[in-house]
Amino acid sequence: MRITTLFRRLLGVSDLVVSTVSLEPEVLVLGGRPRWRKPRCGECGRRAPQEGPGRVRRWRHLGWGSVMVWLEYQPRKVWCWHCSGVRTERVPWAHHRSRFTEDFEELAAYLAQVTDKTQVTKLMGISWASVGSIVERVVARRLDEGRLDGLTRIGIDEFGYRKRHRYLTTVVDHDARKIVWAAKGRSAATLHAFFDELGEEGCARIESVTIDMAAGFIKAIRERIPGARLIFDRFHVQRLATDALDEVRRERLRELRGTDEGKSIFRSRFVLLKNPWNLKRSEKQKLNELQRTNAPLYRAYLLKETLAAALDYKQP
Ligand SMILES: [Zn+2]
Repeated sequence: MRITTLFRRLLGVSDLVVSTVSLEPEVLVLGGRPRWRKPRCGECGRRAPQEGPGRVRRWRHLGWGSVMVWLEYQPRKVWCWHCSGVRTERVPWAHHRSRFTEDFEELAAYLAQVTDKTQVTKLMGISWASVGSIVERVVARRLDEGRLDGLTRIGIDEFGYRKRHRYLTTVVDHDARKIVWAAKGRSAATLHAFFDELGEEGCARIESVTIDMAAGFIKAIRERIPGARLIFDRFHVQRLATDALDEVRRERLRELRGTDEGKSIFRSRFVLLKNPWNLKRSEKQKLNELQRTNAPLYRAYLLKETLAAALDYKQP
């Protein structure tokens, strides 16, 4: 086997012909070219007549051990009728605006899914900005065009970032257990953008939606998919009861300030909010004491627990 053939196989990049191999200190440079002879436009991929030579470029590929691997090629300039202008030719191993091979980008994007951005920059030896643009390109390449087809049961949620100064709305397909849509913001308008993308037919197919209790979301759903069943997820329903219990506790605390009873209520917050099966013996005693001395608060506690128990039932 010729050494260049060996390297082509080791690289695992299709439509690449390796012609030269050179080892610089800790850097392996593989000179290659596309398998096809007639150049194609980098922008649109169509065949296009050659205009002249471009400048020599290098693309970072997955390293071998501690050795960095670069692909080197001098892409030709082409005249593309479709893009009406001079473009750089397409190469089979990389996106036309990227300095990395697709294999390299795939690994970086995978890491970005499972760890944070700083770790990706360290592991792959690339800049913070490169991680972002790599992720954008890989998502554009791999995004499933049919991800919004046939949705019937969806969930809508929001989460905050930048210390909850900004929000992201996500839509999940409950059947496929996948996030199928996401956008910045958390208003009715954000959700309207999703329904617009889904289209009228898609909207008509939605049977049920699980959401938190955000008023904006509810409004958008009522307007766009009035036939769908609205389901509030358990976590948010229970939190309302927990908040109400805490409200009662604070009220009692104001009334009984300065008394022994007040002090005991002051220390009871944790006991009241904890799941009853997790209570320690001393905490159970505390609860018994509340039952004896503080009827309104204990009643609120029982209501909270009754709701939790009711939500456990499988039969309506
Ligand atoms: Zn073109």
